[in-house]
Amino acid sequence: MSVARFDLNKCIGCKSCVTVCPMDVFRFDENAKKSVIAYPENCQSCGQCYVNCLGRALTIVNDMYGYAQTSYRAATTVNMNRTAQAVIDRK
Ligand code: SF4
Ligand code: SF4
Repeated sequence: MSVARFDLNKCIGCKSCVTVCPMDVFRFDENAKKSVIAYPENCQSCGQCYVNCLGRALTIVNDMYGYAQTSYRAATTVNMNRTAQAVIDRK
């Protein structure tokens, strides 16, 4: 398990991940105003960055190479939930 970027565009530069990570995985790019997953190999999958990410820009994956698959699954689940909620809201 490791942390991965779900969507870089969603990073709002709040620095929460940099602050909360006990393993010092993140660095902050002051020019881009976004965090950088600098040392993913140190991640212990504690989930602190994930739950504290204000932009919902991070995800936890099975391994670093599972990023695309997990992101797709997460996005699909979110879209399905939104669709289901929209149906409920219309009733
Ligand atoms: S899951 Fe925990 S150890 Fe891994 S990057 Fe996030 S805060 Fe750091
Ligand atoms: S916690 Fe999320 S939104 Fe904030 S800097 Fe980290 S990745 Fe970006």
